[in-house]
Amino acid sequence: RSINDFIDDQIKTLQSEDSEEPFLVADLQSVIDRHQQWLTLLPRVKPFYAVKCNNTPAVLRVLRALSTGFDCASKAEIQMMLNLGVSPDNIIFAHTTKPMSHIRFAAAHRVQTMTFDSEEELRKISLCHPKARLVLRIAVDDSDSLLRLSSKFGAGLGLVEKLLGLAVDRDLTVIGVSFHVGSGCTGSQAFQRAIADARQVFDIASVLGVQMSLLDIGGGFSGRDNFQVKFEEFADVINAALDKLFPPDCGVQIIAEPGRFYVESAFTLAVNVIAKKNCEESGPGVQIMYYINDGVYGSLSCIVNDPAHPPIQLLPHRAVGVGEVRYRSVVWGPTCDSLDKVSDSAMIPELQVGDWLLVHHMGAYTVSLSTDFNGFERAKIFPVVTEETRRLLELRHTSA
Ligand code: PLP
Repeated sequence: RSINDFIDDQIKTLQSEDSEEPFLVADLQSVIDRHQQWLTLLPRVKPFYAVKCNNTPAVLRVLRALSTGFDCASKAEIQMMLNLGVSPDNIIFAHTTKPMSHIRFAAAHRVQTMTFDSEEELRKISLCHPKARLVLRIAVDDSDSLLRLSSKFGAGLGLVEKLLGLAVDRDLTVIGVSFHVGSGCTGSQAFQRAIADARQVFDIASVLGVQMSLLDIGGGFSGRDNFQVKFEEFADVINAALDKLFPPDCGVQIIAEPGRFYVESAFTLAVNVIAKKNCEESGPGVQIMYYINDGVYGSLSCIVNDPAHPPIQLLPHRAVGVGEVRYRSVVWGPTCDSLDKVSDSAMIPELQVGDWLLVHHMGAYTVSLSTDFNGFERAKIFPVVTEETRRLLELRHTSA
């Protein structure tokens, strides 16, 4: 059965229960397909999925069955992955400014690999987890990305020698380098430049007698096929840079921390029109205002929190007649807050209270950022997977 069939059935079930709660459908096959694409196009790079992007347990279980690693940002994310049976060796604690209790937690649970980018973090780690395998995160040119990260994280190249020297003085083990070109990267050359920067760090380390063996190229890849830069192009640039600067026989393991790539397109949100106003008077050209039951405090939080969010296209679930008039409409979320606006120019045919709208590509930085502000419950998530795929995943897990 297709995802659309599932959505139709779910809407019917809700109607029979006199309910119109919003819901999300998670297409797990889409996550599996993304993984296959990754393996095909970036065969040298082991993905460590960034749990923060979407921590839906069904998604995490699928990725565990596919043997990806996991990038965790906190004690709670580490605990979540350990509870799902992930080995501590398959976790990277990829946060450079960690609470000390979280570092101690990682140590107690044998999570060894963690990032740092400052002298103070080295001091904290030497106190809390002196046997950690450290990865030096560097700041890279992230000007091509919709969500830039290097102003907050990463050491400049000028600091590298000092930090490595301090690590040696403290008897800490630095095993590699990481970077993040920024989320929603729109220029593949960003990876070429960042990999070249990382090469420089490896060379500086080698002069200091530190032999590094890990390169972590971070995340940044869109999860939409219609994104302005195709994943194939990123992969070509990355593979070429790796083959030149970190050839296969150089003894360096290459990993990455993709988030949105895996989940962005896998989730579809279904929302219900709960109120409507005709308001020709409220602005030139604006004819109808709709109020839907999910918004920027819920699954659509990406509108305000994620500069790299996909364009929000509200698609009527009902059939739209050929030539049916579309009106420029304002669509509000359900809470008592005027910031809770989903669109001020949605081109949609006239809808009635009770109609459903679908929003695709709702998997990245959506559910992990949603709240129940005003008492509107978070949308329920329905993972959908074919029986055949489910059996395959179970088999893989039991034989893992
Ligand atoms: N790794 C780190 C350290 C991050 O901060 C993020 C996102 O903010 C990611 C990985 C995932 O990035 P993306 O979703 O762009 O792939």
